[in-house]
Parts: sequence; structure tokens; C-alpha cells
Amino acid sequence: MKVCVYTLGCRLNQCESEALADAFAKEGFDITDEEAGDAGLYVVNTCTVTAKAEQKARRMIRLFAKSGASVVVTGCYAQMAQSELEALGRIHVVPLERKSALLSLPRHIKDCAAAGMSLEESLPLFTGPESSVFDYQASSFSYHSRAYLKVQDGCDNSCGYCRVHIARGPSQSLDADEVIRRAMDLEGAGFNEIVLTGVNLTMYDHEGAGLGGMMLRLIPRLKPSTRLRLSSMEPDHIDEALIEAVSSPAVHPHFHLPLQSASQRVLERCGRLYPMSHVEWVVKQLRAARKDPFIACDLISGLPGEGEAEFQETVDFIRGNDFAQAHVFPFSPRPGTALEKARDRVSERVRDERAQVLRELSEDLHQRYIKRQVGSEVEVLLESRKDGAWQGTTGNYLKVKVEGVEGLVLDRGQIVRGILKAPGLVSLS
Ligand code: SF4
Repeated sequence: MKVCVYTLGCRLNQCESEALADAFAKEGFDITDEEAGDAGLYVVNTCTVTAKAEQKARRMIRLFAKSGASVVVTGCYAQMAQSELEALGRIHVVPLERKSALLSLPRHIKDCAAAGMSLEESLPLFTGPESSVFDYQASSFSYHSRAYLKVQDGCDNSCGYCRVHIARGPSQSLDADEVIRRAMDLEGAGFNEIVLTGVNLTMYDHEGAGLGGMMLRLIPRLKPSTRLRLSSMEPDHIDEALIEAVSSPAVHPHFHLPLQSASQRVLERCGRLYPMSHVEWVVKQLRAARKDPFIACDLISGLPGEGEAEFQETVDFIRGNDFAQAHVFPFSPRPGTALEKARDRVSERVRDERAQVLRELSEDLHQRYIKRQVGSEVEVLLESRKDGAWQGTTGNYLKVKVEGVEGLVLDRGQIVRGILKAPGLVSLS
């Protein structure tokens, strides 16, 4: 039978989905994607960050169910709205707190099939064993050319717009020795790039050592050719040890800061309790650590309390600090959060106008970043081959085509070095 693990949301969800797909593959199931539309079972890993992500989850779940396939739904949205999802039809909802138990679902389906049961008969019987949020350990990745390693889960903050910390619970970290062991296993399985992920990655803490401390132990244990990439980094816990770790060439010069706003007043209104002077320090340190790194951010337009002056502070900060890209989300109040019923809401018209301004600013900064990289040496992770040409992503997060590969035997997941000859084009020769 073919199985599709369909993922919405963050890199952590992608990482967990890869481990689920790997568990199915190991039991002999064929892994497919949603575009092929040929799965007998869809596992939908949902996200609750925005209303849009939830809408999309509902749309895809209906579509998969309509195809006659069986559908299992899990993830943050499933945790927050189990009955709402069950009302969509013949759906099996496994809330987030039992998501990792799904790693044993393939075995359960096979055992039930051996006892003469159909897939639909077997799914309601699935309970799964006791499991941990760190049970996800893929050794093969069906949907990505790089490996994802989950080192942290949950979050102790309570930002006023966020449902993720409610769904995922408090911060937990994977033992540093175990991180090293898993990273070395991934290297052994042939991965050249490992993405460290978590809900709030910089909240990583194992026996007092933060993310930086853990990485400073991990890097010397890896092959000199292995590269680490960091998923989103909340700025509040970025410290000197982490800056020291990311100054290593083993770490790709690509940093993503989910700032949401650069106005101190708005941050405080949202319950984000760090000073903007710390963010300035972080950006300065990242720039000192690496040559013109790709520094991106997330921004939410129209957060409660964001007046014209506060919005302008954000625009000025992003432009003044030369961010390479901004991912912009218009604010929408999320059920159960502190800002759900905020009285100082910004009108939807103004919120959307501001989102547009930020997107245009992002596009402008992105183009400027790409142009100034032309002529520089880059590393490219090869991701796919189309019409004979390899496509990939550079260490500093540029999507490129690779030329000059004639006569070379190259593979998906390999890292090559070349010169960025023009925007979007790397030459190896
Ligand atoms: S830092 Fe804030 S936005 Fe990020 S997961 Fe924690 S509560 Fe949510």
C-alpha cells in the first residue's frame, strides 16, 4: 500500500513527518506524495499557527477522504480541535500528545492485516505504546535532501498571539550526548547537511548548557565536510556561546529570527519580554561571526497596539539592519490566546496595507542581498535534477541552478562548491 505523509507548518513538523514516513518505509510501505494522489493512507500532520494553516488542513483532509483513502490526522491543530476535525468525516484523529506513538502505526496495520482486518478496521484499534517527543528518528528522508534532527520541543514563553506553546506544552531538550549520537548516525547514513530543529530551538537547555554549548560539543565530532543548518532562532536566548558556535564554517551562514515586530512597545504588548537592544546585539554579532550571512525574519503586521509610529520602527529596523528576507503574516487572533480579544486591534485594511509594505520591503532587500553575493564562493546542497540541470540551495539559502557539471557523477544530497555567477546560477567550473 502507498502512504503519503502530508505536512503543514514548521520545520519541526517536517522533521517529525520524515520520521513517520521512515517508519512506514521500514515496514515495507511505499511512500508517495499528495500530488500523485495514489495513497491508500494519508497521515496529515497539521499546524495551528494561523487560521489559514488550519483552513488548508481541513481542505486537504476533505480532499484525501473524498479519494476513498483512509486519513489519520495529527499535529498541533489536531491537539487543539479534535472534535472539529472528527466532524469532517471518516477521519482518525491522533492528538499531538500521542503523535510519536504513530511511529508504531505501520507495525499495527501490518499485524491487523495479517489477522485479516482491513485498514479501516485496524485504525480505530490503534492505541500505540507510551512514547516520547524525542522518539522521532528518521534514517531516511523521503521528502527532503537534508536530514532533520529534533533537539527541542515545547516552549516556556507565552507570546500573546501564539497557540503553539499551548499545544506543545513546556520546553524539553534532548540529552546532548544523544544529539551527538543521532547526528553521527545521520552522517553515517550519508547525510551531508543536518538541520537542528525545535519549537523554540534557542530554549535548548541540557544540564545548563544551551544550544551554543551543545553545538560546541557536537561540531568537533562531525566530519569536516558536514554542515549544520539552524531552524528558526528566537532571539531572547541567543548568547555568546551560540555566537561562537555559529562562527564555525560547519554551520551554514543562514539565520532566521522570528522577530514579529521591532517595536519595543508592541513586543511588550505581546508578552515578548526581551529588549530590542538585545536583538541589535544579536544581528551585530551574527554579522561579525560570518561574512554577509543570510539573516531573515518573521514579521506579523497589525499586531494589537501597533500604531503608525510602531510600524515605522519595524520598517526602519528591518531596512537599517539589512535583513535578507522577511516572511510576513497578517495578525489574526487565535482562539485561546492572550490577544484573542484584544481591544487595541488594528483594522484589517491597515493590517493588510502594512503587510504589503513589508512584503515589498522584503523583496527589495532580498534582491539586494542576492546581487551582492554574485561573484562569491558558495556551497550548494543538490536537491533535484530537472532537464539535466541540478537545482539546489546554497549555504546562505539561495535557490540556484548548477552549471559546469558535465562529466561529474553527482548525487542528490551532495554538497558542491562553486561561484555564484549570476542570481540563481552557480558554476562549478
Ligand atoms: S517563543 Fe512565543 S511564538 Fe515562539 S513558540 Fe514560544 S510562545 Fe510561541
